[in-house]
Amino acid sequence: MMHEQLDISGLVKRFGGLTALNSVDMTVGSGELLGLIGPNGSGKTTLLNIVSGYYKADGGSINFERRPVLGHAPHQLARQGIGRSFQVTKIFRRLTVLQNMLVAGLSDGAQSQSEATDRAMGLLRDLKLERLAHERASSLSGGQGKLLEFARIMMLSPKIVLLDEPFGGVHPELKRFMHDHIRKWNDSGVTIILISHDMGSIFDLCQRVVTLSYGDIICDGTPEETRNDPAVLDAYLGD
Ligand code: ADP
Repeated sequence: MMHEQLDISGLVKRFGGLTALNSVDMTVGSGELLGLIGPNGSGKTTLLNIVSGYYKADGGSINFERRPVLGHAPHQLARQGIGRSFQVTKIFRRLTVLQNMLVAGLSDGAQSQSEATDRAMGLLRDLKLERLAHERASSLSGGQGKLLEFARIMMLSPKIVLLDEPFGGVHPELKRFMHDHIRKWNDSGVTIILISHDMGSIFDLCQRVVTLSYGDIICDGTPEETRNDPAVLDAYLGD
């Protein structure tokens, strides 16, 4: 039986007169691989931004492993085990690939420099970036940059990873490679919330899919249930 790891209750977010999240309730069990879908502007990224501390909420509560999330800064939440990716990768182009990894690991005081370097090189090896470790990040291809972002997320040994559109502009072979890694992380016990417009990826990877529309959850079910839900089909018409 999975224990409840992330508990979101009555979450509200407004931008001026716009309600981006309208009292969202959602729980995620430890070890789940959850898809988060919905038309453009439905509130997906906003939800991840709040869970990872980048946006303040206007109401509601979030607990991660029974500790409150709201009011904590991104680096504090990262240390508690909440990792995330961004739609536009946050890589330091003038630093080397390895330096990018070490910067990601810096906030974890438990690791010595040499332990951090070993860990970084191991992760780079897993993602086939090892031979680029001492190149500047600016020399990476777009796809390699995506993989570096993946590797960076794992530097802090997250318990949950929030992935925001990781497959945008990625060619099919790289996408398969990324799928394999997402599955591997999840098999090793890492909880994953995946935002993607790529329904093939969502239905392929996720056991459960939550659909947002205009800041409300309109469906929470298996891929099969989601695919056949009239409210979901309706929300996507005209997207
Ligand atoms: P999604 O990720 O589902 O495409 P978002 O969470 O990005 O949706 O956006 C939800 C709504 O909130 C949209 O109407 C968007 O324009 C608005 N929004 C998101 N971020 C901001 C912001 N920083 N300032 C103002 N409005 C925002």
